[in-house]
Amino acid sequence: MTLDELQASLLDCQRCRLASGRTQVVFGVGNPHASIMFVGEAPGFYEDKQGEPFVGAAGKLLNELLGSIGLARPDIYIANVVKCRPPNNRDPQPEEVNTCKPFLLDQIQFIKPQLVCTLGNFATQTLLSTKVGISKVRGRAIPQSDFVVFPLFHPAAALHQGNLKSLLVEDFQKLKDVLKNMKQKLTDSSLSESSSPTQDQSDPEAIQPIQMNLF
Ligand code: SF4
Repeated sequence: MTLDELQASLLDCQRCRLASGRTQVVFGVGNPHASIMFVGEAPGFYEDKQGEPFVGAAGKLLNELLGSIGLARPDIYIANVVKCRPPNNRDPQPEEVNTCKPFLLDQIQFIKPQLVCTLGNFATQTLLSTKVGISKVRGRAIPQSDFVVFPLFHPAAALHQGNLKSLLVEDFQKLKDVLKNMKQKLTDSSLSESSSPTQDQSDPEAIQPIQMNLF
């Protein structure tokens, strides 16, 4: 199965009760080969109407924050833990999260990001399998087996609480440093691989440069 096929398979998903209130499934958007992925909680009113995550005021703030560290939406992939809007923007219920989570994990497997930025409590607790709150873990790179999780406050929460916005801005600058370090490590490992005596430099087919859209 491919990412597109996974998306197509969910178009009429009825696996949980959120199906009954949605306008459409909001699967995710962005670069399918992105090195950095952002994961939010659930579609809101505008996302449900437009079929795209983070298109309202929170999306505008996210775009500004991305711009502050030299990124834009085409550089990243963005999705939510649950793909259908909970009624009246209530929190997703545990059984809804558990039912939809495998599709998020599938998305991550297809995209293979190095870094997954979780936005808010739900995404952070879902991907870290923890009950620890976002305030305790935000702004830290937390290695997992296949990628690094970097928890951030949800932009919607930051819009409503000014103190959270300044912390979110601060954490994006930390994220910039994490990205810089990852890029440096990648460059170092690429250089060390290219100077390896075991690699046949005379055979252009044997040299596989590490290509990443972001780094
Ligand atoms: S939230 Fe997820 S599991 Fe529930 S109906 Fe939507 S796509 Fe299916």
